Amino acid sequence: MSCGEHHDVDCSEILQRVYVFIDNELEDASTEEIRQHLEECAPCLDEYDLERCVKKLVHRSCGSDHAPDALRQKILLRLTRIQVETSITTTD
Ligand SMILES: [Zn+2]
Repeated sequence: MSCGEHHDVDCSEILQRVYVFIDNELEDASTEEIRQHLEECAPCLDEYDLERCVKKLVHRSCGSDHAPDALRQKILLRLTRIQVETSITTTD
């Protein structure tokens, strides 16, 4: 299955803009487009939730919205692992 072909907008394009979307630096029209896509596309939504978590954690540990890439990657990695562990343990 390939995500994106059933959408007007390409998923990779959305995910690129999600970073800006989280920063609230998009125009309203673009924000709506992304929100709509996230509602229809689970893979993109997963990615977005992850980013939102990273943002929150970064803000808490740095006091800033703009964390160094290394810290971002570390948090993202940790969150990904948590997600994987959660999906494994929720089978019972
Ligand atoms: Zn998508």
